[in-house]
Amino acid sequence: MKNVLVVGAGGVGAVAVVKMAMHPEIFEKITLASRTVSKCDDIARNVKERTGVVINTAQIDAMDVPATAALIRETGAELVVNLALPYQDLALMDACLEAGVHYLDTANYEPEDNAKFEYHWQWAYQDRFKAAGLTAILGSGFDPGVTSIFATWIRKHKLDSIRLIDILDCNGGDNGKAFATNFNPEINIREVTATARHWENGDWVETPAMTRKVAFDFPAVGEKNMYLMYHEELESLKTHFPEVERARFWMTFGDAYINHVTVLQNIGMTRIDPVIYEGKEIIPLQFLKAVLPDPSDLGALTKGKTCIGDIITGPSGDSEKTYYIYNICDHEECYAEVGSQAVAYTTGVPAMIGAAMMMKGIWLEPGVWNTEQLDPDAFMEMLNTDGLPWQVVELDGHPEF
Ligand code: NDP
Repeated sequence: MKNVLVVGAGGVGAVAVVKMAMHPEIFEKITLASRTVSKCDDIARNVKERTGVVINTAQIDAMDVPATAALIRETGAELVVNLALPYQDLALMDACLEAGVHYLDTANYEPEDNAKFEYHWQWAYQDRFKAAGLTAILGSGFDPGVTSIFATWIRKHKLDSIRLIDILDCNGGDNGKAFATNFNPEINIREVTATARHWENGDWVETPAMTRKVAFDFPAVGEKNMYLMYHEELESLKTHFPEVERARFWMTFGDAYINHVTVLQNIGMTRIDPVIYEGKEIIPLQFLKAVLPDPSDLGALTKGKTCIGDIITGPSGDSEKTYYIYNICDHEECYAEVGSQAVAYTTGVPAMIGAAMMMKGIWLEPGVWNTEQLDPDAFMEMLNTDGLPWQVVELDGHPEF
């Protein structure tokens, strides 16, 4: 396989295609298609300037399955990398089945009117992909994505199984704006305003959104407040690693971010149900997205580092051990390399590596898979060589928080 179609010309798509272009031996032909073709053309110019590689661009509404299948056939693509929005996942999976090509994404399907973050819609495609001899890889970003692959690597090389897992996502970066999200504002705000949920002793435990706060001293970043949240990989991790006793997800937010989200929520601006404004239906959160800074414009402004990883405890022979495995990524270094900040970079690079695993035939078992179900080794090697080096340290027991 050598020919890829990337759908979605946002912050993440912009990084993924530059990184693909840096591997012409893997990605011989790259087409970038999105709803607004001028954004694809801007990205294509950036790719040409940085790598000398010419990529093709096209306009597509990914909700239009026949048109997308026709575009796949026209480009001759063998793999579709979905870097549009979660709402497009099922339509793009349908188009892949119709055109007979493989599929990869970075976020699970969500209906527009219900922020559910559940995998069952996509897992229901298992038999169809298997029968067609095609592979769909779900969630090959950083979280979900790398954080699940970290868990599989720890389980394969360091522990007999996983008893406790905490995923810690820290963005220690500052973009100088009073309030801006680091990836698509609509998706980001849907996530942070959802009820927090974690897996414990065979059940989901719910906590009101953004109420459980813990200070943690992150490597290379320092102490930050992190909040308990629900994140989609908890569902797939507890399903695929049924031995897990407790799985939690934490993300850091500054006080200013929390204050802004609280006010926006209190005044109804984060609602995802339609309201009538001057005789027309509008969704308040979509209107809010339109007035907030575009995350893909934050690259030049953002300074500082991200630190994302897992703290995992489990049996190892006769004893129990705890490991912290993480990546540190510098916003300014990402901008210098590809022209984007670290949040887009830490998602776009794993999307490229996941696609490379498929192009090379390493991850091509027919069916629908989450990243923790796949062999981690070749992916982990490529993280080290392609901009997201990781470290693993042993801790004295699982931290109490
Ligand atoms: P952006 O909003 O920056 O980009 C989304 C792109 O998709 C835009 O170019 C948009 O087009 C395009 N698009 C939207 N609807 C359609 C459609 N119907 N047909 C074709 N194109 C469409 O988002 P991000 O780049 O920040 O995020 C991309 C994805 O990555 C999201 O699914 C997000 O949830 C996921 N993500 C995953 C992470 C992880 O670690 N796993 C972390 C961060 C993000 P237009 O320009 O016209 O609006």
